Amino acid sequence: MADDISFPPAPLIDPFQRAITYLRISVTDRCDLRCAYCMSETMQFLPKRDLLSLEELDRLCSVFIARGVRKLRITGGEPLVRRDIMHLFRRLSRHLDSGALKELTLTTNGTQLARFAPELAALGVKRVNVSLDTLDAGKFREVTRRGDLPVVLDGIEAARKAGMQVKINAVALRDVNGDEIPDMIAWAHGLGMDMTLIEVMPLGEIEADRTDQFLPLSVVRQRLEGRYTLTPLPDRTGGPARYVRVEETGGRLGFITPLTHNFCESCNRVRLTCTGQLYLCLGQEDSADLRAVLRATQDDAVLARAVEEAITRKPKGHDFVIERQRPAAVPRHMSVTGAERPPSGSMR
Ligand code: SAM
Ligand code: SF4
Repeated sequence: MADDISFPPAPLIDPFQRAITYLRISVTDRCDLRCAYCMSETMQFLPKRDLLSLEELDRLCSVFIARGVRKLRITGGEPLVRRDIMHLFRRLSRHLDSGALKELTLTTNGTQLARFAPELAALGVKRVNVSLDTLDAGKFREVTRRGDLPVVLDGIEAARKAGMQVKINAVALRDVNGDEIPDMIAWAHGLGMDMTLIEVMPLGEIEADRTDQFLPLSVVRQRLEGRYTLTPLPDRTGGPARYVRVEETGGRLGFITPLTHNFCESCNRVRLTCTGQLYLCLGQEDSADLRAVLRATQDDAVLARAVEEAITRKPKGHDFVIERQRPAAVPRHMSVTGAERPPSGSMR
């Protein structure tokens, strides 16, 4: 059934009349880096048997596409470290060819991009988000606990050469990149890349106290206005980013500020973990176990019904709190739900 996609597919509509057209899929919880705000140094990763196979991921994604999802973002952990991940991209690209899927894209730390960019581009991946918090090799090593900046820069270059549009995502980190952000913007825009700044979110237990890492984007923006003219843009993506044009560079800059704004009203997305749990909202714990359904039946109609049922439970919004308290507001790490776009909603 998943490949027998009727046009137009009946969209998934949640109880708040939001059409769910965007699915983010974490294909692994593993990563070759250990960014200090994302993972603990000693992460316990999931046993491989718990992960959905690439075939299962393809089947599930295809069911979502048959139910009106138009955009897929592959993420992680680090998606490009999953063994044979290109097999999944190859399979999913058939939905681009058929027109059922409008966009297939990924968020990556860029360490493997030099190797994969040409094939990704050939398969129809037109845009890629690369996470990069600093252009200082020493700080990069410190933040990621093991990364080599030149490797990521080579990956970005390879993606650009392959014709992909690259967007740089940087988490604003107090005492790490606050001073550097204006120069990073000049660098990214100078190469024709959009850039988005993200506030640290309280997802998963890490060694550090996130209130020590937290740098409000309101402060960053104020500082930026000392150097740049920022003109608000109306662009919305159904997510929590707000955009401005930086007049001096001509480039676009996004702000993802989950702690200070409420974006839930336009939320169009749900998230699938690498174990097949469907999270209806990044900031809420309610989920649906699609792996159980997937493994219990070969009938995609049953799977589609499980997806529909889950969507009826999508909450109106979330309620993050970042303050000096343990445990983290949401116990699962970002690498499990794999989103640099936070929940549509507010953190107080
Ligand atoms: N490994 C890939 C990468 O780094 O792009 C994809 C997964 S990573 C979890 C996706 C994004 O989430 C990255 O941009 C990362 O900086 C961001 N991120 C991770 N933990 C975060 C947190 N606690 N708060 C805000 N952003 C976070
Ligand atoms: Fe890995 Fe991405 Fe998390 Fe960094 S942010 S540890 S690259 S998953």
